[in-house]
Amino acid sequence: MYTEFDPDRLERTRAYFGARATGIDLLEEVRGASTDDLVKHAGATRAGAEELLGVRDLFFGATRYHGRQRRALAAARRIGHDLAVLLVIAYHVGRARKQDDAWRIFEELAGIAADEEAMGRIARRKVREANPSPTRTPGVEMRRGKDGLWSWKITADSAFIADLHANIDSVDDARAALLGGGGAATPATTNAVMDISDFGRLLSDAPFGAEGTTGAEDITVQLTNGAIISGAELVRRKLSEFGFVGLVDPVRGPVNLYRIERFASDKQRRLALMENPVCAWPDCLVGGDECQIHHMRPWERGGPTNMDNLVTLCPHHNGANDDAGRGGPASRGRMARVRGKTVWIPPR
Ligand SMILES: [Zn+2]
Repeated sequence: MYTEFDPDRLERTRAYFGARATGIDLLEEVRGASTDDLVKHAGATRAGAEELLGVRDLFFGATRYHGRQRRALAAARRIGHDLAVLLVIAYHVGRARKQDDAWRIFEELAGIAADEEAMGRIARRKVREANPSPTRTPGVEMRRGKDGLWSWKITADSAFIADLHANIDSVDDARAALLGGGGAATPATTNAVMDISDFGRLLSDAPFGAEGTTGAEDITVQLTNGAIISGAELVRRKLSEFGFVGLVDPVRGPVNLYRIERFASDKQRRLALMENPVCAWPDCLVGGDECQIHHMRPWERGGPTNMDNLVTLCPHHNGANDDAGRGGPASRGRMARVRGKTVWIPPR
């Protein structure tokens, strides 16, 4: 594979290693040169010339750190660093973020007799110690592994993380703590109600989608800073940590429900339950879970399935409600919405 070795034909090889071995001498030789000069007169590549001149500038360029520069040069001469070592020094010094550190480390490294590899190790450590560690902010990060295993990293104050760690040290613990135990647990959903008047005013209200629609029509809200945004955007900005958020206008009552996470169904039921967590009939305490969603203006008579037409009623009071609004001695009154609130209207 190789031709016969001839020790007398090593002119270039000798020149190559010779030049590398006398790093500072080589730099002296190119003190006044530009990149173009080296490309034109020394057969250098542009990248090679720039790399060499970068090290030259460290030892001979203008700097206000001339004390450090002078001592570094003297030490480098005394030790006789080869060019490879000088290149390593320059590379690492260039990574120090502060000038003061860069020149201090430069002087220190120039005074250490080490080969390329050892110099790299020492330099890396010094620069790492000098550079401030990046500022971290509280938050949660997720990494999606291609192998199907994902990681979840939480950065928060130490007390919180310590508590968390004390309670969770296995995947099963995490599942139980975060999803409420058992493998088949469903994520918790939180309901929240926000009053539009806390943030701005309702400019236009879109019709509520019929049950089961995704609510493509939206309301428009003007914030107190003048910005005009959609209801969805308002909710996203203010309350995105909740599962469902209902927007309520002080005059018109509930105006829309926003799905923040995963469920699209029964949004109107949820919104009605937010408004009236128990049966809305006076003095009735039947819980919302057992209640029905009642159309105050009956469906059969054209009452829309709109939030402002819906109210939570227990089965008993749903039956008792005077749907037809007939009044008279048999009537037990009916539910209606007045100035945004669901109220019971006594029989006439
Ligand atoms: Zn009731």
